[in-house]
Amino acid sequence: MLTEIFVAALVLTTGVRLWLATRHRAHVAAHRSEVPVAFREAIPLEAHQKAADYTVARASLGRTDVVIGALWLLVLTLGGGLQWMFDLAGRLAGDGMVRDLVFIGIVAFASSLIDLPVLMWRTFVIEQRFGFNKMTLGMFFGDQIKHGLIGAAIGAPAVAAVLWIMDSLGAAWWVYAWAFWLTFSLAMMVLYPTFIAPLFNKFEPMPAGELRSRIEALLERCGFRSDGLFVMDGSRRSAHGNAYFTGFGKGKRIVFFDTLLNRLGGDEIEAVLAHELGHYKHHHIWKRVGWIAAGSLAFFALLGWLVDAPWFFEQLGVSSQGDAMALTLFALVIPVFSFPLSPILSLMSRKHEFEADAYAVAQTRADWLVTALVKLYRDNASTLTPDPLYSQFYDSHPPAALRVARLQST
Ligand SMILES: [Zn+2]
Repeated sequence: MLTEIFVAALVLTTGVRLWLATRHRAHVAAHRSEVPVAFREAIPLEAHQKAADYTVARASLGRTDVVIGALWLLVLTLGGGLQWMFDLAGRLAGDGMVRDLVFIGIVAFASSLIDLPVLMWRTFVIEQRFGFNKMTLGMFFGDQIKHGLIGAAIGAPAVAAVLWIMDSLGAAWWVYAWAFWLTFSLAMMVLYPTFIAPLFNKFEPMPAGELRSRIEALLERCGFRSDGLFVMDGSRRSAHGNAYFTGFGKGKRIVFFDTLLNRLGGDEIEAVLAHELGHYKHHHIWKRVGWIAAGSLAFFALLGWLVDAPWFFEQLGVSSQGDAMALTLFALVIPVFSFPLSPILSLMSRKHEFEADAYAVAQTRADWLVTALVKLYRDNASTLTPDPLYSQFYDSHPPAALRVARLQST
């Protein structure tokens, strides 16, 4: 019965995603002609309409992406694609661990080729048309190759370790595999900002001056010790602005995109940073890690059961059963079934955003954060009028109107 259940779940998930994207497009288009009252003074109609057109263009491409993803999944599974790639890997690399790694490499490479047209369209057609893209074709492909090489250099040993655990540690291997995977993910959180991000961007210490002194005073006030304040050359690739925190423990870094610093005033930057500090103060990173750890333990337990079930392979279009195939098949198919969890995760994320906003208000001023957010919505062409249902499913941040209203009421 798994074939039927899988196809039904895929059709349902794809249908819901297309429906949500269509609703979102329609909602945004219907509110295109008027700036919502709360933003009328700060955002001109022209900017509002640009945001609407940008959102509609992205939602349309999103629909294409959903359809391509569903078809590709069918090709790989019931269409026999995975089996064909597995046989190809066998011809290239015999058998054993090397064959398994070659197989997973082929699947990853082919999948990224399938994703490439949508990615290029997003960058060179949509981002370009709305004035956000700063990348050349050469830079784009350079990034892709770098991502591929780094992914292989880090991913291959990690996958090899998981395959070894599956093969060697007995019936409870999935507990060890889970523990390994969790440790690996935490290690990447520490290593990524220090060793990998600098391969793509320049990070310079924030220059001394009024802004830096203000930020240091805020950190002092909030009792926050950081391993450095950096400015990242985000403007090399995109005009979108952002600020973020990386790492944890003693290795915490604060990174500002140059695009953000160029657009916001000192008050606004301080409020944005206070919001980021709020995430830290409320332990949002650890709460998220806890959720992911618990959820992934359930997934690993499920995989531990499925790996020995012949029907899991046969019913999904595969005749070669084994650890590498189980891992690949599981990773591809599980999102079809876990999709109903996405509104729950988004809800948790939005709750964290409100908490971080409240912290920012306590440490700085609500009106500073409001003007900062309004500038960011305007400059990033973020829609002020998302479809409410779409927003509940996908948005990690509360809709602009709710967020600003909550800030203004404090
Ligand atoms: Zn936030």
